[in-house]
Amino acid sequence: MTTDASQGQANGSAKHLYQRHQSVLPDWLAVYYADPIELTHGEGRHVWDAEGNKYLDFFGGILTTMTAHALPEVTKAVSEQAGRIIHSSTLYLNRPMVDLAERIARLSGIPDARVFFTTSGTEANDTALLLATAYRRSNQILAMRNSYHGRSFTSVGITGNKGWSPTSLSPLQTLYVHGGVRTRGPYADLDDAGFIAACVADLEDLLGHVRPPAALIAEPIQGVGGFTAPPDGLYAAFREVLQERGILWIADEVQTGWGRTGDNFWGWQAHGQNGPPDILTFAKGIGNGMSIGGVVARAEVMNCLDSNSISTFGGTQITMAAGLANLTYLLEHDLQGNARRVGGLLIERLRAIAAQLPGVREVRGRGLMIGIELVKPGTDQADPDAAAAVLEAAREDGLLIGKGGGHNTSVLRIAPPLSLTVAEAEEGAAILERALRSTQF
Ligand code: PLP
Repeated sequence: MTTDASQGQANGSAKHLYQRHQSVLPDWLAVYYADPIELTHGEGRHVWDAEGNKYLDFFGGILTTMTAHALPEVTKAVSEQAGRIIHSSTLYLNRPMVDLAERIARLSGIPDARVFFTTSGTEANDTALLLATAYRRSNQILAMRNSYHGRSFTSVGITGNKGWSPTSLSPLQTLYVHGGVRTRGPYADLDDAGFIAACVADLEDLLGHVRPPAALIAEPIQGVGGFTAPPDGLYAAFREVLQERGILWIADEVQTGWGRTGDNFWGWQAHGQNGPPDILTFAKGIGNGMSIGGVVARAEVMNCLDSNSISTFGGTQITMAAGLANLTYLLEHDLQGNARRVGGLLIERLRAIAAQLPGVREVRGRGLMIGIELVKPGTDQADPDAAAAVLEAAREDGLLIGKGGGHNTSVLRIAPPLSLTVAEAEEGAAILERALRSTQF
C-alpha cells in the first residue's frame, strides 16, 4: 500500500492536492484564490509553486517574511540550532531567548521592560489582556471599531471588525471607540486636528458612563481592516485621557512592528508624544516565518502573572535563533530605511496609476504597508468583487498580493519583504496596473 506522502508526490499536481485537502481540511482553508496555490520554495522576494510558476511576493507570506525568503543567515541559525537543541520550554532558561528579549526590550521604548514570548499574535494579545485585566482588576476593555486582534475566543471577542466578532459571547466586556477608520463615517470630512478632537470627545463621553476599563487595545495602523491609519497623534491624545484615569494602552504591533512603516520602528511612534504604550504585542515578521509572538510590558504590569503562565512553545530555542538572526539582519541592513525609500516610491507610482482609474478610491499607507481601496467606478461603494478579480489577474501575471478581511475585502494589501528592491517595486507596480486595468477598469 502506498502512503499518503508517496501518493502526494506521485500525483504531484496542485489540483490533486486540493482534492485531497477537501476531504481532510476545513472548507474555509486556502480559499484566497479560486484555484489554491501550493508553494514549494522561495528566495529573496520570490516564491515558486508546485507547477514551477514563479511569483513576486508582494504580501511577504502574510507580513511574516520580514527580511527575505530563505534568508541564508536565518537558515544557517535555524539549522545550527536544530543540531544542538530545538526546544526546552519556558520551564528552563535558554540563551537565544534571553538575547532576543534583551534586544526587544531595548527597542520597545518601554521603561523597565520585560518580554514574554508566545507562539502567535493571538496568544500575545490574549496575554496582554490577561495582564491588563489582572493589573487593573477590571474585565472591561476598550477596542477600536474595525480592529482585528486574533482568532481565539478572547481576541475575536474584542475584535471590532464585525466580520469576526461574536462580542456577546466574549468573557470580556468590550466597548468600541471611534478613530480607527478615517475614510468613512461621521468624521470623514474633518481635518486631522478636528478628527482627533472629535474622537477624544467621544472617548471622554464614553468613559463618563462606564465602569473604569482595564485598557485600550489598538493597532497603530489597522491591518486586516484595510491598512487604515488614523492621523498621527490620535493615540497620543487618547493616551492623555487614559493616563488621567489609570487605563492602560496596549499597542498591537503584530503588523506594524519591525520598521514596516518606514518612518518608525514601531507604529506607536507616530503617536509617541506622550510616551510608549504600557503594553506592546508583537508577532508576524520577527521570526521570518517561524512562529514567534510576544508581549512587552513594564515589570509591575508583567509581574501580575505568575509561574503558572508558561507557554509550552513560547521562547523555544529554534524560533529564538531565527528571531535573533532575522532581527540582526534587519538592523544591520537598515531595512526600515529601505521600507521608507522603496515604499515611498511604490506609493507614489501606485498613486499615479490610480489617478487614471475611477475604480480606485484611495492609495494609502506608509513604508511597505500599502492599501489600495477599490470602489464601483464613479461611486463610493466598496467593490470586493473587483479586489478578488485583481488578485486573480495579478496571480496569472506572477504577483501575489493580499486583501483586507471581514468588512474590508475591497482593499488590496501590499506588504512585501522589507528588502524589496526598486526594480522589484516597479515590476510589481506594472503587474498591478495591468491587473487593475484588465478587470473592471
Ligand atoms: N493582531 C493583528 C493586528 C493581526 O493582524 C493579527 C493577524 O493577522 C493578529 C493579531 C493575530 O496574529 P496570529 O495570526 O499570529 O495569531
